[in-house]
Amino acid sequence: MTLKFKEPAPITDDLNPLESMMERFNEAAEILGLDESTYNALKSPEKAVIVSLPVTMDDGKIKTFQGYRVVHSSKLGPSKGGVRYSMGVNLDEVKALAAWMTWKCAVVGIPYGGGKGGIQCDPRKMSQGELERLTRAFTGAMRDVFGPERDIPAPDMGTNPQTMAWIMDEYSKLAGQATPAVVTGKPLVLGGSLGRVEATGRGVMVSTRSAMAKLKMNPTESTCAVQGFGNVGSISAKLIEQQGVTIVAISDISGAYYNPDGLDIEEAINYVSREKSLEGYKGGKIISNDELLELDVDILIPAALEDQITEENADRIKAKLIVEGANGPTASNADAILDKNGVMVVPDILANAGGVSVSYFEWVQNRLGYFWTEERVNRRADRIMKQAFDSVYKAARKHKCSLRTAAYIVAIDKVASTSKLRGSF
Ligand code: GLU
Repeated sequence: MTLKFKEPAPITDDLNPLESMMERFNEAAEILGLDESTYNALKSPEKAVIVSLPVTMDDGKIKTFQGYRVVHSSKLGPSKGGVRYSMGVNLDEVKALAAWMTWKCAVVGIPYGGGKGGIQCDPRKMSQGELERLTRAFTGAMRDVFGPERDIPAPDMGTNPQTMAWIMDEYSKLAGQATPAVVTGKPLVLGGSLGRVEATGRGVMVSTRSAMAKLKMNPTESTCAVQGFGNVGSISAKLIEQQGVTIVAISDISGAYYNPDGLDIEEAINYVSREKSLEGYKGGKIISNDELLELDVDILIPAALEDQITEENADRIKAKLIVEGANGPTASNADAILDKNGVMVVPDILANAGGVSVSYFEWVQNRLGYFWTEERVNRRADRIMKQAFDSVYKAARKHKCSLRTAAYIVAIDKVASTSKLRGSF
């Protein structure tokens, strides 16, 4: 299809998540018949802040880090989205991730816009003290961006509840009052929500079940490979295994582990909590990351990095169902190939939205000062995920398009109509 809203050619030949995001946005905008002014308003972020963060390292030297926060949209409410600590962080990536948060929150119908932040650093090579000083410096630099009614960070790759505790503490000090609702994904004792740690993986499981029902797949006769064994991958694997599915492969930075008879996920999780990674894990034979993606399985859950499935390997994917636990694991150049091969892809902005949904519950509980049981959190999150899947599925049938395009259509339509109602200058 020739697109009316064609973006300029890529700056480099490398895959770029911002281009992948824009390609999908363009396609959905075209189907929706979005007018050019709304298109232009939605395509660029509202705000992008870059800060330099000089931090005293343990050896006494001062090292300067680059920090980013991008607010893509605040039309539906305060912007919401994680903060990522990784060497790969750059402005384009954060812009793409921020826009994905806008679409994600709109797809599941929570009253948030989208934002994302990041610091270019390698958290595994830093001490707790260094990470704390870096996080506090970042929070100070972003004090006018963050706020419980403005922009609300959460954990993402390389960050965790401890990071959120530091942000909450630093922000509260600067504000002169306890402000737990400035950040979600906090430890429980600081106002975190029950169920938040498991929420993204749980949502991936619920999406997987919904998609399996549509494809008439029987859990006890299905196999699954999970790429990535961090918070999202490991909990998705555990909960999908509990549904009766056989998990035959898992992976992390140390490699991929395959056992055609099925792995014991609980055991693998215990192994990682002891050893810090799957390195040396004996539950399965070692295969490469590429081999994991191309295994003859029914379900593939990419829950690691961006751009893992590309035009280069898409044709060799054998799974009939891909559920995207990570943000942007499929490059846009692979979409048509997967479509042609009849692979159902539950897109990231739907599949991994369980995390931000429970973040919303955490924020609500912080503002109420009243805390819910885990059972209530899970029940409401499951309902959100099921309803979102059904509305995207319906839109896909209506527009005769993939679930991905349908999810963008649902999201863009919501943000565009809200923007119109709110008006402009
Ligand atoms: N980082 C997560 C995501 O990409 C969670 C964001 C949030 O809870 O605000 O969806």
